[in-house]
Amino acid sequence: MHALLLTSCFIAALLLSLALKYWLATRQMRHVAAHRDAVPAAFAATIPLAAHRKAADYTLAKGRFGLLSTAFGAAVLLGWTLLGGLDALNVAVRDVLQPSGGDMAYQLGLLAAFALIGGLLDAPFELWSTFRIEQRFGFNRMTWKLYLADTFKGILVGVIVGLPIAALILWIMGAAGSLWWLWAWGAWMGFNLLILVLYPTVIAPLFNRFEPLADRSLEARVQALMARCGFTAKGLFVMDGSRRSAHANAYFTGFGAAKRVVFFDTLLSKLSPGEVEAVLAHELGHFKHKHVLKRIVAMFAISLAGFALLGWMSGQAWFYQGLGVEPNVAAANDALALLLFMLVTPVFGFFVSPLLAGLSRRHEFEADAYACAQASGADLAAALLKLHEDNAATLTPDPVYVKFYYSHPPASERLAAMRHGVAAAA
Ligand SMILES: [Zn+2]
Repeated sequence: MHALLLTSCFIAALLLSLALKYWLATRQMRHVAAHRDAVPAAFAATIPLAAHRKAADYTLAKGRFGLLSTAFGAAVLLGWTLLGGLDALNVAVRDVLQPSGGDMAYQLGLLAAFALIGGLLDAPFELWSTFRIEQRFGFNRMTWKLYLADTFKGILVGVIVGLPIAALILWIMGAAGSLWWLWAWGAWMGFNLLILVLYPTVIAPLFNRFEPLADRSLEARVQALMARCGFTAKGLFVMDGSRRSAHANAYFTGFGAAKRVVFFDTLLSKLSPGEVEAVLAHELGHFKHKHVLKRIVAMFAISLAGFALLGWMSGQAWFYQGLGVEPNVAAANDALALLLFMLVTPVFGFFVSPLLAGLSRRHEFEADAYACAQASGADLAAALLKLHEDNAATLTPDPVYVKFYYSHPPASERLAAMRHGVAAAA
């Protein structure tokens, strides 16, 4: 009874989310194509028609590719669940590993086998996106050699970091009694905080080179801005983002006194010192308004709800049977429950994504307002336009698509809000 109900809900949610994604993507593509041949009036003086057309073509290419990978992802999801893929994998791994290695070896083996197959299924899409689409629009700087090295390092980090935390969570699930989900949540949160601390100093340097900012005048400017805003940073670094992509960025990471500012070399080569300062002021705005902290707290709360839900469902036979898997009788079901949960929750989570995107857009406006107060609004506007043009981001997105997906407001809205803010302050 319950199993059939879960199956029906899952199919309904999957079909509904696919229909919605298709509708949104085609809206966006139609809207962008319809505005391809005219730069919007507000940008006519700053953005050349060729750049506007390139942005439209890039958006369309990514949109078509997105539709294809969405359809493929849904097929893979059905393959794992209702069509019996995960069930077959489970039986195979269990029969090989459980008799000799026990529950832990079997469960870790199942997670590893799933990750390996998932990675292989995703690889063609990743390759196509990097070496075809990004390449065609001149963004890709990745070579095959670097791609293979990245993949190898990624697997290594996954094994060194992922395996112990997976083993810990599985052990808690098996040993901590009916409130295991609370303990597991605690362990998972501790792990996430550890990664936040280790990422900038241990993990990121495996993939990129970080060098202290050598430009003395820019350094002085940035230090003055940080002092003005009440921040101290342990260092200003330049990252060789240009090794992989021409897209530009800057970020601010770390906690307490260990904060560090990282500029992509691609950002420094494109923006003037004043514009770099304005971009950093925007990032500082995120910290000043506690957006980062709020995001971490929200992640904690959502994870707690997720673990509680998993704690309840993993003990019910209908949870497995409703999603196409026969639960083990003589072996632990914890790894199986984790995998099913990770596969299926995004389908339902998609329907709340506009809420999170809306919140994120509000944060961007707040960070912009902060940057305009602490640095030059004109520089921030100029930087925004340059980055938009360099990243071939469309200036004419579909408004409904924006509401659903955009974590950053469209350039037109951000510039209008800045003008408004500056006018109100004057
Ligand atoms: Zn931002």
